[in-house]
Amino acid sequence: MTKKVRVRFAPSPTGPLHIGGVRTALFNYLFAKKNGGDFILRIEDTDQNRFVEGAEEYIIEALNWCGIRCDEGPSASAATADQGKYGPYRQSERKDLYRKYAEELVAKGKAYYAFDTSERLDYHRKDHEAKGKTFIYNWHNRLKLDNSLSMSPEDLKKRLDSGDDYVIRFLTPPDEKLHLKDIVRGDIEIDTNILDDKVLFKSDGMPTYHLANIVDDHLMEITHVIRGEEWLPSLALHKELYDAFGWEAPAFAHLPLIMKPVGKGKLSKRDGEKGGFPVFPLSWKESEGYREAGYFPEAVVNFLALLGWNPGTEQEIFSMQELIESFSLERVNKSGARFDPDKTKWYNQQYMHQKEDGTLATSFIQELKNKGIDFISEDYVKKVVGLVKERATFIADFWNLSDYFFIAPKEYNEKAAKKQWKEGTSQIMQDLVNVLEPISDFSSENVETIVKEWISEQELSFGKVMPPLRLVLVGDMKGPHIFDIISMIGKEESVNRIKNAILALG
Ligand code: GLU
Repeated sequence: MTKKVRVRFAPSPTGPLHIGGVRTALFNYLFAKKNGGDFILRIEDTDQNRFVEGAEEYIIEALNWCGIRCDEGPSASAATADQGKYGPYRQSERKDLYRKYAEELVAKGKAYYAFDTSERLDYHRKDHEAKGKTFIYNWHNRLKLDNSLSMSPEDLKKRLDSGDDYVIRFLTPPDEKLHLKDIVRGDIEIDTNILDDKVLFKSDGMPTYHLANIVDDHLMEITHVIRGEEWLPSLALHKELYDAFGWEAPAFAHLPLIMKPVGKGKLSKRDGEKGGFPVFPLSWKESEGYREAGYFPEAVVNFLALLGWNPGTEQEIFSMQELIESFSLERVNKSGARFDPDKTKWYNQQYMHQKEDGTLATSFIQELKNKGIDFISEDYVKKVVGLVKERATFIADFWNLSDYFFIAPKEYNEKAAKKQWKEGTSQIMQDLVNVLEPISDFSSENVETIVKEWISEQELSFGKVMPPLRLVLVGDMKGPHIFDIISMIGKEESVNRIKNAILALG
């Protein structure tokens, strides 16, 4: 029987989740759902020095906003949390279980106690540096350092009894060629002699990331570890740890980095500050998030999915369900994925076009209320939204695109006025008022027919009537079909705006 797929997203609550982290969570989620498996959120908070208040809540809120639902995890939002079998899901709440695993490795001769003080290790580091070398705690010097391998059992007992601080280090087996497999990167060979004896258990009684991560992945029956490429250097140690415990290792997939829009290196907070785009899903302190910048979560999920995953077709727009159906780790690219802020906007536009006018109107009404405009019917706002949404990227664009549907222009674009308001224009506009006033059916089509008939009867050119008319109604030369505007704002308002313009422009 094949095992049920179980994957985990294992962030450390050391700050806000970068969108690269959201992508890792997303790929885990897509893979789990594609394979009928479970997506687990595990909070790796063993490093109390780096703990940041509010970070865990932020992570959970960000995943929820994106529609990435956890099957198991620390929050109440986890749908089918089986806390009994696999929980708790915060490593700080599991801290009592790790020591026994570290001791188990010591008992098996796969790990050892090391008493070297940090001053001593610093001394070795500096001494090596001065000689142009790097200090690595491993096979070539471990017998000369202060650990259980370099002392007699009697001395060891004394040291342990005396309460001296110690850590537990992994005893990296020398002279081995490790053959590692990664679903994205293929086969990787590592010579164990270049590895250091990593600390597994710290003197403060807490496990390090490596030990806690492996123990938890094993206990939580994780089948696939999908994480960022920055963890690839840890893969050798992790594989060694599985072997040392005699446990079956999960499959590994290391996701490519998300790269800066230009130049080398991975996307950073500074790139966002320089380029004026968010790098966090939600705002964090003074950094604006995608949510607050007006992005739809579907757009964020869609662009993140295509950063490093290639569907193998031309399709660019994917709903979460379509992503689940199409996703595979085999189609994740090896090379870094370049971040393109313009493309994120393009995605938002696409989702804007797809959204129901009613849904967009609900958000826009809120903005209108904030501006003190609360006398407008929902139906009216819905129509406005329908007329301008093709040109909008964000809900926040609606006001600039459609203010004239709600308030008369306070001024007229100077350049346009110069060009459109000529001698005789006032008279034409006055005549137009006389044409509009008796019309009772003020539908766009009817007004258009009547005005166009009048233009041809009077042998006026369109150019003499329509551009100045747009200018006086809108204040500028922008906007949708002019008769749609006239019909929407209505007869009284249209006539008032024309009369005001005659007074203002002369
Ligand atoms: N706690 C690690 C992190 O912050 C998890 C890495 C992993 O997935 O193994 O990303």
